[in-house]
Amino acid sequence: MTKFRQIEKILNPPPYHWVGDGFKVHTFFPSHEIEKSRMSPFFLLDYNAKTIFPPSDIPKGVGPHPHRGFETVTIAYEGSVAHHDSNGNSGVINKGDVQWMTAGSGILHKEYHEKDFSKKGGLFQMVQLWINLPAKYKMIEPKYQALLHENMGKFELTKNEGIINVIAGDFMGVKGPAKTFSPINIYDMRLKKNAKLTLDIKENYNTGLLIIDGEVEINESMIANTDQFILLDSSGSTIDLSANKDSVILSLSGAPLNEQIFQYGPFLMNTKSEIVQAIDDFNNGKFGQLE
Ligand code: MN
Repeated sequence: MTKFRQIEKILNPPPYHWVGDGFKVHTFFPSHEIEKSRMSPFFLLDYNAKTIFPPSDIPKGVGPHPHRGFETVTIAYEGSVAHHDSNGNSGVINKGDVQWMTAGSGILHKEYHEKDFSKKGGLFQMVQLWINLPAKYKMIEPKYQALLHENMGKFELTKNEGIINVIAGDFMGVKGPAKTFSPINIYDMRLKKNAKLTLDIKENYNTGLLIIDGEVEINESMIANTDQFILLDSSGSTIDLSANKDSVILSLSGAPLNEQIFQYGPFLMNTKSEIVQAIDDFNNGKFGQLE
């Protein structure tokens, strides 16, 4: 008999802060509620809950800044974001798309509202994850993956109960397009009202759910609402979900890296001396050029 993953806590969004002038984010973790290794390999979850941005001729966002030692993954639920980096990669993600940037040894990038979206203004809802890299991959060449909605793995639930868009890893044999450096499953799950789903979770994987929209009953016991994050405990292999409304859920699950973490601002390394090196390299222009 399988055992439910118990709910460790259900969190409301913490107070927001601005990233640049374009991203109004609630940082679910790392935080005093979820410490820095608890969701490893996921290090950070910034959530821009549904926000209406007024029209702006100058796109809002955040200017050139460095990263080293991890990956930034942006998931667009509403609105459009443009990205440029010092490797010459650029792209726009719209509703349902994901941009997956591997900072690796170091990169500069900037993130802005896409210019036409900015001119018109409108509804905006995004997630940004920082996914840690295993020590042996921290200094790899930077790379960029544009993952479009149409290329996600698709698992259709029976009886027209909804769809699982597989961004990374696999769901019942359906694989996601993201290339990852450690075992990770990321699903964009869309459940119709009254849909039921049993989610299989690998035994030791750290797991959490973010309710993007709707209302979901978990393990026939607790109800989670829009904008809440559910941290699951670490034993048990299934989660039972039952949608009380049409619901959109982000599911994050991954094998913990079990390595030392040293973070300073936009750098995420294993040791303090690696951070000192990162700052030095950045100050010496080794992260490239970006205007
Ligand atoms: Mn960034």
